[in-house]
Amino acid sequence: MKQSHKKKKILLLLLALFLLYAILLSFNILRFKTYKAPALKSSPLEIEGVYHIHTTYSDGRKSVDEIAKLASQADIDFIILTDHGNPNHESYLSQGWKEGVLVLAGSELSVSRGHLVALGFELPSRNFSHNTEDAFYEIKARGGFSIIAHPYSKTRWSWGKFIEYGGIEIINGDTALKKNILASLPSLPALLIKPEYAFLKMFDSPHRNLRKWDELNNLHPIYGYFSLDAHLLYRPGFNLLHLHLLLQSPLSEDFDTAKHQVYEALRKGRFYNSIHAAAHAHGFRFSGEEEEKTTPMGSTVLYDSPVTLNIEAPFPFAKDIHLVHNGKMIFRSTEDSISYEAAHPGTYRVEVYLTERSPLGKNIPWIVSNPIFLRKDDK
Ligand SMILES: [Zn+2]
Ligand SMILES: [Zn+2]
Ligand SMILES: [Zn+2]
Repeated sequence: MKQSHKKKKILLLLLALFLLYAILLSFNILRFKTYKAPALKSSPLEIEGVYHIHTTYSDGRKSVDEIAKLASQADIDFIILTDHGNPNHESYLSQGWKEGVLVLAGSELSVSRGHLVALGFELPSRNFSHNTEDAFYEIKARGGFSIIAHPYSKTRWSWGKFIEYGGIEIINGDTALKKNILASLPSLPALLIKPEYAFLKMFDSPHRNLRKWDELNNLHPIYGYFSLDAHLLYRPGFNLLHLHLLLQSPLSEDFDTAKHQVYEALRKGRFYNSIHAAAHAHGFRFSGEEEEKTTPMGSTVLYDSPVTLNIEAPFPFAKDIHLVHNGKMIFRSTEDSISYEAAHPGTYRVEVYLTERSPLGKNIPWIVSNPIFLRKDDK
């Protein structure tokens, strides 16, 4: 008799604890909102898109048309499909304007060193090579460029001496999801109410990718990408990781011209990355200035006299801006507008952290810019 009484008490206690947890979680989920800057005027020279998406042409759950529709509803300018294949012809041939969204398609190649994303190439008559370096040159010969995908996922990248890749993924949504799903179980119920909340909770610090990226940049310029790697959950995914491209003229309505504009910005590193679900980053700028001449991010400047680095972060919510030089943070500020005299050559890039309340961990950069390279010689 006494035993069952005790059991009942424990059960009641557990139930009370569970209810308390459920109330706290619901409170946090309902309170969550994406920070936006309503007063900011949007520039037609800055376009936003999502990179690394799988469709039913490989192991994705939705068709290109369904995905384009969701992208259009999310108010995205462009998406870049990256179906598996060496290359994936069907996916490639599905490119075009769909639902007002520029749909581009590269391919995610399985090569000897891992997964390599090829973009901007003309279709080859036979498959790209399995050997990584050979594939790199074949892609280049077809007018394209390559990005190292998820270097530290289950399919890891095996590093070699060759370093001329056009890009490296800094954050990969699919890797974060698979790696941290257990740790984020407590916030999973949010998937039903505000999925972005659960996703933001799932990210962990990309310090390992950032460190490797800085190391590579010391040897050869390479650009950093936030990659969604979507196979499902496209709708919340499209609000998650964005590339912001800085164009030289507004995006053309002509498909071939628009495709060229997007790939040119990526090839030259004229873009920055943001975690869109945490806060909207439209309007961020990082540029160099030397004797009236402005240098966009991504470029290499011959360093003979000091260069002024300008950062614009015109956001009405609290943020912490880090200027990183050769992998080390050398300056930080919470101001909207910053000018810094770069007195040494090297690789300069910017990370911005959100200091407002957010499900995003404090050690995860909300914005990661591409670098400006100040070189002593013209190598
Ligand atoms: Zn896949
Ligand atoms: Zn992959
Ligand atoms: Zn992938």
